Amino acid sequence: MKGEKENERICKNHKVPVTLFCNEKSCQEIICQTCAFLGHKKHTIIDVSEKVKELKGQMEAMKNAGVRWWRYFEAEISKLEKIDVEIDRATITALDNIRERRRALIDIIEKQAAEHKIPNWLDF
Ligand SMILES: [Zn+2]
Ligand SMILES: [Zn+2]
Repeated sequence: MKGEKENERICKNHKVPVTLFCNEKSCQEIICQTCAFLGHKKHTIIDVSEKVKELKGQMEAMKNAGVRWWRYFEAEISKLEKIDVEIDRATITALDNIRERRRALIDIIEKQAAEHKIPNWLDF
């Protein structure tokens, strides 16, 4: 039988559920409340579900603007959405990969934005 805890993502540092997202440009990571207190004091901390909403909004805006990179967001969002239902370490690794990819994506978008003058909603 599975315990209820197994339905939550657990912080590998603090062994508590991760429910927050540091929306600071330099972080962009999923954290627990303890992490937020210790390492992200002056950062913008939001709920993971808020981040998913935000990304979805950005994705829609990209689609509407005819931008082709929105597919990257789609993949990220589907992974973020799994946080509420998955606990295994593979997910934590996947999230690290998302962070890597996000950096690469931001890089691509910034270059493209410079060329195509994409509006401010792409400002992460
Ligand atoms: Zn933590
Ligand atoms: Zn932070």
